[in-house]
Amino acid sequence: MIKRIRNWIRNWEGVQGQKKMWSIYIRRKNHYCPCCYGLLEVKEKSKIVNSESEEAKNFDFSSGGEGGSMIGNVKFTWDILYCGKCNLEISELEIRNHERRLKGKKEIGHSKIGLIVVRILSIITIIAFFLIVMKLQRRA
Ligand SMILES: [Zn+2]
Repeated sequence: MIKRIRNWIRNWEGVQGQKKMWSIYIRRKNHYCPCCYGLLEVKEKSKIVNSESEEAKNFDFSSGGEGGSMIGNVKFTWDILYCGKCNLEISELEIRNHERRLKGKKEIGHSKIGLIVVRILSIITIIAFFLIVMKLQRRA
């Protein structure tokens, strides 16, 4: 609750930065609705995210090129697809997976590889820790 109020105050203070993410995949060709097969239109979606909030991990706060990062309230704008008939909003990942399914290809995950890497790293850390402890015990 306190966090919510704090975020609300931060939002109220205004936006410190903006980031527009273009989707080449969405814009380079026409896409069709998975439900009614109608032509989808490109729509821009935006959200103000605070760099210290819980959802910040889902957004890329790096600023292009110089390797710096944006702090505070950042307005993210990204492309999605929209079907006016079905009132359906489709994200880039969803349309990608839908089109891969149509071609009989395997679906791609959002951050599955990242998750696996994190898991392997944590396992290695635990093993390394035990090895160090065992070595220390042998010395004693
Ligand atoms: Zn549709």
